[in-house]
Amino acid sequence: MTLGEKQKKFVKMVGQLIEFAYANGYELTFGDAYRDPRVHGQVGEKKSYSSANSVHKQRLAVDFNLFRDGKYLTKTEDYLRLGDFWESIGGSWGGRFNDGNHFSMEHSGAK
Ligand SMILES: [Zn+2]
Repeated sequence: MTLGEKQKKFVKMVGQLIEFAYANGYELTFGDAYRDPRVHGQVGEKKSYSSANSVHKQRLAVDFNLFRDGKYLTKTEDYLRLGDFWESIGGSWGGRFNDGNHFSMEHSGAK
């Protein structure tokens, strides 16, 4: 799969994740999605808060803010149902490395 094919598949999967979240009583707002290399550095370059090899720079990651009953949920375990769903459709969930709001696709070894 080329990077472009992977990026398009990722967006479609994010749509499924959003539908799943709302169907299960959650609400979401966007955090970071694409991180522009002009601001965050090229892949492999550390220039901001972003890690050098972040897949956000490859358009393969999104961070969500999670809400239920109007309450902002911040713990990694709060995102577990979404993480399990995300993994079931082929994604990599940041909760496996203590970054529960991060949903990505692995690329060149980075998640
Ligand atoms: Zn992230």
